[in-house]
Amino acid sequence: MPKTQTLDAGIVAIDTEMAGLDQTVAAFVVPGERPAVIETGPATVTKTLTEGLRALGLGPNDVASFVLTHIHLDHGGASGDVARLFPKADIVVHPEGARHLADPTKLMASAYRVFGDRLDSTFGPLQAVPKDRIRAVEPGTILDLGGGRTLEIVEATGHARHHMAIQDSESGVIFVGDSMGVYLPEAGVLRPATPPPDFDMEVALATLRRLRARAPRGLYLTHFGPAPADRDLLTQAEEQLIRFGAIIEEAMRESIDLDFLAERLRERTWDDYKAIHDSSELLAKFDALNAFRSSAAGYLRYFQTRA
Ligand SMILES: [Zn+2]
Repeated sequence: MPKTQTLDAGIVAIDTEMAGLDQTVAAFVVPGERPAVIETGPATVTKTLTEGLRALGLGPNDVASFVLTHIHLDHGGASGDVARLFPKADIVVHPEGARHLADPTKLMASAYRVFGDRLDSTFGPLQAVPKDRIRAVEPGTILDLGGGRTLEIVEATGHARHHMAIQDSESGVIFVGDSMGVYLPEAGVLRPATPPPDFDMEVALATLRRLRARAPRGLYLTHFGPAPADRDLLTQAEEQLIRFGAIIEEAMRESIDLDFLAERLRERTWDDYKAIHDSSELLAKFDALNAFRSSAAGYLRYFQTRA
């Protein structure tokens, strides 16, 4: 039975246990007359997600929408599978992501280039979603869950050009996707998620300010779960984005070799992430989601494009 955690206002987090790693990738169920699920997780977790939904009383005809913060494989990789298994559900996605769901060929080719053989075991292939099941939504769109409960799509680019956040009317919580980075509760540390090719630091920082301005009553990260109430994780997300950027920008004056930049980032942030380096299990989780090399590559491209 999949592990679940009940959160504010009836929201339930399902632990998808991607690649057998618990507390790494969450899918959030928002209850209502027309229930929504935020994120599908990767294709490899389709069975876990489906079992988790069933345990909550949500069968094939009961889910109205799967809402993706973005289409990276750890967030939306099961979209094609759930579209088939849940015939009444729309797949809700940013307009920039919609065409990749309809035809994942390009997305998958670039993912195989990044992840190589690891792709199939960790994420699995994204299957195409029928066009009439894809609902492309602009920021500001209100999804009606019935009974007065709504989800609002919030502009949240930076991590990717097609990234969005979602705010629940009932709880006031924002589902932030990857816009704040990766926070694994066992590690207790936040690491920026800044992958190529889209990552834009200024845009990502503006997103964090926008999220703060909405005065959220909770911040739920896909990786993984609610931000601790006693910590200002939004401020830490800003600080870490700037800090990583400063490290890479300085290192780029010596070399733009990616291995060099990744190693420099690892060295300079070693103390911040000591808890991770000391645990092979935590390191495996962070590397599956967001390796230093990917962070370095995202900043390198950002600084080069900007120049
Ligand atoms: Zn992610």
